[in-house]
Amino acid sequence: MPVESRRLFFALWPPRDVADEIAVRARDSGVRGRLVPPEKLHLTLAFLGDVPAERIDALLAAGDGIRAVDFDLCLSRLGYFRGPRAAWVGPKTTPAPLAALAAGVREAAAAAGIGRETRGFRAHVTVARRAEPPRRVRLPEPVAWRPDAFELTESARVAGKAVYRPLRRWPLAPASVE
Ligand code: ATP
Ligand code: MG
Repeated sequence: MPVESRRLFFALWPPRDVADEIAVRARDSGVRGRLVPPEKLHLTLAFLGDVPAERIDALLAAGDGIRAVDFDLCLSRLGYFRGPRAAWVGPKTTPAPLAALAAGVREAAAAAGIGRETRGFRAHVTVARRAEPPRRVRLPEPVAWRPDAFELTESARVAGKAVYRPLRRWPLAPASVE
């Protein structure tokens, strides 16, 4: 009997104006390939793969238990993953609260019995697939982004195309300003 499952990942989704800015800056930096449209740009915190349907409630409950604070992201780097031929933009260094959040969602997944992600976390927003290696390593102008929530997202396939659907969003608590 086939086991029902859904393909899930935790991610940060930029608001539309930030997404537009990322797309424009990437294109202006000479990124070539299959450009990811702005509405699909995201930063994956943890990829969970196919999650059995009966684990999803536990996963959502574990997500409810995450306490994370917000942080500023300065997307200034342009990078490339050779295997998947993906061009990406990302921060020069990963802010500690972002690293903590990525660890938190992995722990939540593990607590729900999902032990998929083994690779280290590399903060990046994929901007093009089947891309050539970018010629520069820096965006001429960085993109500022202050995420205010993280999300558990479903990656469904509709007529052969990936369609992302939010399952639940959790706010990031405002970090105290000194
Ligand atoms: P498509 O597969 O149709 O090109 P996609 O890669 O965006 O679209 P998914 O494969 O469902 O959709 O991936 C969802 C997110 O998880 C993406 O950000 C993707 O880069 C990331 N991801 C996918 N597979 C892995 C993996 N094995 N390890 C880490 N991250 C992954
Ligand atoms: Mg994929």
